[in-house]
Amino acid sequence: MLVHDNIYINGRWVSPSSSQRLDVINPSNEEVIGRIPLCTEADVDDAVKAASDAFPAWSARPLSERLAFLRTIATAMKARSEEIGKTIASEMGMPIKLAGMIQAGLPIGNMAGFAEIAENFSFEETVGNSLVVKEPVGVCGFITPWNYPLHQIVGKVAPALACGCTMVVKPSEVAPLNAFILADILDKAGLPAGVFNLVSGYGPTVGEALASHPSVDMVSFTGSTRAGIRVAELASQTVKRVTQELGGKSANIILDDADLGKAVTRGVRECYLNSGQTCSALTRMLVPADRQEEAIALAKTAAEGFTVGGAFEPESNLGPLVSQIQKERVLSYINKGIEEGARLVTGGPETPEGRDKGYFVRPTVFADVTSDMTIAREEIFGPVLSILPYKNEEEAIAIANNSDYGLAGGVWSRDLDRAKAVARRMRTGQVSVNGGRFNAAAPFGGYKQSGNGREFGSHGLDEFLEVKSIQL
Ligand code: NAD
Repeated sequence: MLVHDNIYINGRWVSPSSSQRLDVINPSNEEVIGRIPLCTEADVDDAVKAASDAFPAWSARPLSERLAFLRTIATAMKARSEEIGKTIASEMGMPIKLAGMIQAGLPIGNMAGFAEIAENFSFEETVGNSLVVKEPVGVCGFITPWNYPLHQIVGKVAPALACGCTMVVKPSEVAPLNAFILADILDKAGLPAGVFNLVSGYGPTVGEALASHPSVDMVSFTGSTRAGIRVAELASQTVKRVTQELGGKSANIILDDADLGKAVTRGVRECYLNSGQTCSALTRMLVPADRQEEAIALAKTAAEGFTVGGAFEPESNLGPLVSQIQKERVLSYINKGIEEGARLVTGGPETPEGRDKGYFVRPTVFADVTSDMTIAREEIFGPVLSILPYKNEEEAIAIANNSDYGLAGGVWSRDLDRAKAVARRMRTGQVSVNGGRFNAAAPFGGYKQSGNGREFGSHGLDEFLEVKSIQL
């Protein structure tokens, strides 16, 4: 059991104002594996005060000293990478091999990566008679989700530290244990008191207190569009900067000249990564209508090749969903797909065989999906792929862009120039061509209702900087 009775404020582990606690559940077997405090507005006040008090000194530290902390922290994270991977696999269910690489490896790489990026970043420039300087935005409030929990936290904490901001982090209450490890690492790294503070608990209490706090200069939110809108509403009252990394319903356009076998197989695999609980998952596969049957057969084989199982079962490559609530949501979408007339190719709402404990869902593929169906419009956040047939390239692009979201996308073609031209016409923040690898140093973020702002890379630093013009 990983029991946390304290929160981290002003460089110390302190008792929260309330005695209420929340259990953390292992979604692979439904066992309680930990406990965290349910904080209140009073704890948020204390944490924000500590961050405000720490801001003048931290923002005045030379960049090289701040970056030295980032490097020390990255080294310490690396030394604890196994613990980080296991903790996240236990609290959110990603199979351990993948969790080690992605859930631990990615944030460790990014912590070190941001030190390099900030070292080469231009914090000032001359424009005519003006010296234009970039300065830290101030006290930041971070609200993060459970699906790539530490990656999302580090995507905010690392650039904020580099830029000279101070911060209060509220991790997801569903997978919060990794954030306590990070706080321990920062504490042991000797980060000055108050620069980083950790409070835990529910969104509507702790998250909203942070989003509306008058002494918070910026709130950076990653999570559902619903909660992101609420955060922005609250933050607007004190004119905070708000960045939002929200949901998606991304399209994977397989053009008529693509290697269909490769495109469909890779497309299924990417859709099911993290049991489909990936904001940028390519959940709408667009295929030429006259090749839909071929694509269906390939997708069926790929989907049925997955082994559903617990995070620590060696054979499993498709873990459970994170919670009972998430499982029920996904099952209701599968039922909706059937009701609205989509063709169920494989999977479905039944519990996978022998999986009565744990929040498992069958890898599911629908075909003959049309843009007006709920499963084509709403983010499902489970292992559910929709295949949509199209008549020609124009129609494919129109279907891809016919979404409230605009986070990611894919294009497959043997003609790279053609693929790039289609990629440029997609209204999304990321497009992967022929399975182009995820690049952790490239800006990440959404068009439309997928969010505002960009994280990672040098664009991720800009989010934490105010711009001042000094006329000479
Ligand atoms: P969620 O919105 O339920 O929760 C995210 C965070 O917001 C949690 O810390 C939660 O406690 C908090 N929260 C909830 N209600 C709040 C409120 N009223 N005020 C303030 N804070 C509140 O989302 P989730 O279920 O944890 O994560 C899944 C969602 O996150 C999906 O929609 C996914 O697409 C999105 N996501 C987006 C990105 C991205 O970069 N665009 C990355 C990961 C996840």
